[in-house]
Amino acid sequence: MSKELSLQETGSLLMAAQKIVLCTHVSPDGDTLGSSLGLAKFLLQRGKEVIVFCDDLLNKSFSFIPGLELVQRPEAGTVVEADLLVVMDASSFDRIGIVGEVVKYQQLLNIDHHISNTRFADYLYLNAKAAATGEIMCELFQAMEWPITKEMAECFYIAISTDCGSFRYGNTTPKTMRAGAWLLEQGVQPNEISDKLEMKSRLTMEMLAKVLPSLTFEAEGKIAYLTITNDIYNKEANTDSFVNYPRYIEGVEIAIMFKAVEKKVTRVSMRSSNVDVAQVALSFGGGGHIRAAGCTIYAPVEEAREQLLAELRKLV
Ligand code: 5GP
Ligand code: MN
Repeated sequence: MSKELSLQETGSLLMAAQKIVLCTHVSPDGDTLGSSLGLAKFLLQRGKEVIVFCDDLLNKSFSFIPGLELVQRPEAGTVVEADLLVVMDASSFDRIGIVGEVVKYQQLLNIDHHISNTRFADYLYLNAKAAATGEIMCELFQAMEWPITKEMAECFYIAISTDCGSFRYGNTTPKTMRAGAWLLEQGVQPNEISDKLEMKSRLTMEMLAKVLPSLTFEAEGKIAYLTITNDIYNKEANTDSFVNYPRYIEGVEIAIMFKAVEKKVTRVSMRSSNVDVAQVALSFGGGGHIRAAGCTIYAPVEEAREQLLAELRKLV
C-alpha cells in the first residue's frame, strides 16, 4: 500500500533527491513520454542527476518530443543506483518492464492518473480525475511555483493532448483546459503540436490499409474490432490511433484492437462509450481508464480475441 502524497509533498520528495530515475511505461505514449521529459528537463536545470528510462522501443513518430534523446533503454543485468525512482503514468509495477530490476532505489514514487492504480509504490500522487499525467505536472509546477520553459510546456502539452484527444474526450475538464491555456501562455503553438501528433509515416498508413479489412462486428453491432495478425504486424508502424476507426461507428459501444506482437502475445486496446473497460482490462492483468484501457493476453491472437470477447459480450 502506498502513502498518498499532496502536490507539495510530491514536489518536496523530488527536490530532496539528488540521483533521480524517471521511467515511462512500456508501449510508451505521448503522456508518459511528455510528462517524464518535461519533468526531467526541470530536474536537470536544478542540478539533479537524472536518467530517463523506457524499457521499450521508441516509435519514430515521437521523435519531435523535446528531450527525447534523453530516453535510454535499460540493459538487463546492469545496476543503476538512485535516491528516487519515479514511475510516470503507469498504474502497476509490471508496466515498467525491467526498470524495476535494474534500478536499485532508496524510494519509489508513482505519479499517475489511472483509476486502476495498484498502489505499488512507497509514495503515490494519484489524481484519477486528471485527463493526463501531463495535467498533474502542470498542477505540480504551479503548486511549487517552479519556473517552466517553452520546451517543458511543449512536453506537457503533448502529454495532455495525447490523453484527452486534443481536449475532445470526456476526461477533459475545466482544469484540463486551464492547464492547456497556461501552457499556451508559455509559448506553445497548438497547431505545431497537433500537426506533429497527427503526422503518420507512410508505413503506418500502409499498415492501416491492410488492417481495416479485418473490421468485424459482434453483439448486434455494439462491439467492433480490428485485428493485426502476425504477418501484418510491423513494430516500426505507430498503431496507437487505429482503434479510433471501430470506435466512431454508429451503434458501436465497445471498440477493440487486437495486435499480435508475437505468436503467443497479443496486445489489446479497448475504447468504450460507456461500459467500464478498465475493469475488463484489470481482469486480464492490464488496466487503464473507464473508457480507454488495455492489456496483454499471452495467447495467439485468435484465442486472445475469443477470451476477451466472451467477457465483453456479457457487458453490452
Ligand atoms: P492504449 O489502448 O492506448 O494502449 O491504452 C489505453 C489506456 O490503458 C492507457 O491509459 C494505458 O496506460 C492503459 N493500459 C494499456 N495497456 C495496459 C496494460 O497492459 N496494463 C495497464 N495497467 N494499463 C494499460
Ligand atoms: Mn496517461
